[in-house]
Amino acid sequence: MNVLLVHAHPEPRSLNGSLRDFSVKRLEKAGHVVQVSDLYAMQWKATLDADDSTDRRADAHFDPSLDSRRAFDNGTQSPDIAREQDKLRWADAVILQFPLWWFSMPAILKGWVERVYAYGFAYGVGEHSDARWGDRYGEGMLAGKRAMLIVTAGGWESHYGPRGINGPIDDILFPIQHGILYYPGFDVLPPFVVYRTSRMDEARFSGICDALGQRLDDLWKTAPIPFRPQNAGAYDIPELTLRPDIAPDRSGFATHIA
Ligand code: FAD
Repeated sequence: MNVLLVHAHPEPRSLNGSLRDFSVKRLEKAGHVVQVSDLYAMQWKATLDADDSTDRRADAHFDPSLDSRRAFDNGTQSPDIAREQDKLRWADAVILQFPLWWFSMPAILKGWVERVYAYGFAYGVGEHSDARWGDRYGEGMLAGKRAMLIVTAGGWESHYGPRGINGPIDDILFPIQHGILYYPGFDVLPPFVVYRTSRMDEARFSGICDALGQRLDDLWKTAPIPFRPQNAGAYDIPELTLRPDIAPDRSGFATHIA
């Protein structure tokens, strides 16, 4: 299988750097082919702007969505964007690996998503009408592929528990797992989260590698998070709200998990 690991940490000798090296070795040892997009090492351009297409007139009004679509359709995207899209087409599984920074991904990785997820590639795909709101949330260009997050966090596991002060980790990661990964079609596996990173020693690191290694070995066996697909009848169209008879007493992120 082909695995793309998108890595966002500025220091190769960091905990994240060690976990990346471990993951690549483990996956290759199991016979998988791995490509790494090491965003800081690549000096990835994080901002989406008018320079993202090669054929734009200097005086033209820049429209982030429509210009993205035009460049995608015409083959005039910036080559760094097209290269990452090719890697996504190539991959059977995609791993996003990052430290939790201000309750989300580092800006460089958010910029990778904003630029690589072009109109026509990751959104605006399929029929858009009153009867159907495109191929997304379970369908789309990246359907049939698996995705997983490897995240490190300074906070304790209890801080991210159901009643923890930071809010539940599943809620914090929902915009990434549901909004960024499930949206264009990925089957999203439960995340691998390392908490309390400042309390690390060789013994703990070794235990974390054992657990992570098992998750990587099970990449094709682990059941995905059962997010509800948009176009399978659970949502009223065109409001796209969950049907009133499904989980009637619940609301919020968890409602979108079957
Ligand atoms: P490092 O700092 O590189 O390492 C952590 C520890 O692991 C160190 O003690 C190091 O010596 C040890 N280590 C590294 N490699 C090995 C190895 N191979 N073997 C054994 N030990 C090793 N945390 C939150 O919980 N929520 C937030 O919202 C949040 N926001 C942040 C925002 C910013 C801007 C920053 C800078 C930090 C934030 N943090 C937050 C903390 C952050 O999540 C952690 O600092 C980060 O996850 C640690 O990962 P690292 O790769 O940088 O670890």
